[in-house]
Amino acid sequence: MRRMFRRDRRKGFSPEVPPILQEANMAFEKGEYGRAAERYEKIARVADARGGRYAPLLLLQAGRARAFAGQAPLAIPSLRRGLELLAERGQYPRLQQAGTRIIAELKERGLEVEATNIEILIGTILPKSFTGEPSAKRPALPRHCPSCGAPLRPDEVEWLDEVTAECGYCGSPVG
Ligand SMILES: [Zn+2]
Repeated sequence: MRRMFRRDRRKGFSPEVPPILQEANMAFEKGEYGRAAERYEKIARVADARGGRYAPLLLLQAGRARAFAGQAPLAIPSLRRGLELLAERGQYPRLQQAGTRIIAELKERGLEVEATNIEILIGTILPKSFTGEPSAKRPALPRHCPSCGAPLRPDEVEWLDEVTAECGYCGSPVG
């Protein structure tokens, strides 16, 4: 069955969504975190090696899935690398928001040591001059990307215009 993609306003087409990304998102959604993590890690490794723009979010999601699966030691390298990539790319608002969320998620699972390590890392890589950005008023997004099924969070998408965002995992327009 051919899927009908929404038109990408910038390029006139929607990207091909890799099936492994859809599988990862589906497994994550079903709570099969180990399965999801293996898939995110595989895609993230390729994206990272290519300097791909989706690499940071994929790495963070891989780490999140490992932490949710109770595999904290496997979570930390992906989380660190994802956050460091955001810093390298100067994406400080996203770094701050992702970091805050990850620390909360780790603490919720009793992973205090890991949470502290991430806190220290963020303190090191976030420039002291960065004091946060006022968040713009944006329309509500669907909970999941209609193309790849990734969870959509307002701070993890790129806004193409006032009402259209781009999925941070596959680049499909959402709005
Ligand atoms: Zn997507």
